[in-house]
Amino acid sequence: MKKNKIAVAVALCMAAVLTACGGTAKTETTKAAGAETTKAGAETTKAGAETTKAAESSAAGGKLVMVTNAEFPPYEYHDNNDIVGIDADIAKAIADKMGMELEIQDMAFDSLIPAVQSGKADFTAAGMTVNEDRKKNVDFTDTYAQAAQVIIVKEGSEIKAPADLDGKKIGVQTGTTGDIYAGDIKDANIQRFNKGMEAVMALTQGKVDAVVIDREPAKVFVKENAGLKILDEAFTEEEYAIAVKKGNTELLEKMNAAIKELKDSGELQKIVDKYITAE
Ligand code: GLN
Repeated sequence: MKKNKIAVAVALCMAAVLTACGGTAKTETTKAAGAETTKAGAETTKAGAETTKAAESSAAGGKLVMVTNAEFPPYEYHDNNDIVGIDADIAKAIADKMGMELEIQDMAFDSLIPAVQSGKADFTAAGMTVNEDRKKNVDFTDTYAQAAQVIIVKEGSEIKAPADLDGKKIGVQTGTTGDIYAGDIKDANIQRFNKGMEAVMALTQGKVDAVVIDREPAKVFVKENAGLKILDEAFTEEEYAIAVKKGNTELLEKMNAAIKELKDSGELQKIVDKYITAE
């Protein structure tokens, strides 16, 4: 039912053409909307090219531009020249459902929300935690993952629980919720790094006493570096969602519909299972 609705929306979009839908209508889109529209689609491309400005806003051009910070395994990371991971796969599945192409761009974590706000990107999927401050700047889709900030320490560390972090040197990734919430720790000396992995390296080198970071990347980093462990007690519990430009309800609703389908069909779980193996 939902699927049909999307197909109809795509068809309408293509028929209504061209100002709204802009440039590069995709073959898949055309297929979804039926053979009849193939020609219209081809014409769309031309019309779209003329209205170059619309092509700028990539959502209108048959292509969705996603920004992420590909330093965050298993959600997004580099695999040779590709950006892969749970978020990349989910975004691809959403784009497929919307009959659109997906382009992924990599940038610093704290540039992601500005890129969405300025319209440089259509959305960010970056293991991004929903929080009230960010909600002032972007709109979040329904959440798609439970997450947590955890604490990584060296084995044998005297830090055994979040309460032991007071007065300690704490490594975080700039602009993340780990960075934000570590600010609440009493007398903490916060050391900021561009990449989570760099914070972890600082921990192995004894430059910080602990790292506050998301649970799944923490597991990956601890596995890759001997002598580290994750404390049992999490620092915070949180949830991830995709962020779109404030007020872009059209995209938000389409993405939410796709996310619901992915959840209901079990496809989302399949993607997670591909990257996170149960212990
Ligand atoms: N979940 C954290 C946040 O939203 C970290 C995300 C990340 O580093 N990609 O701030």
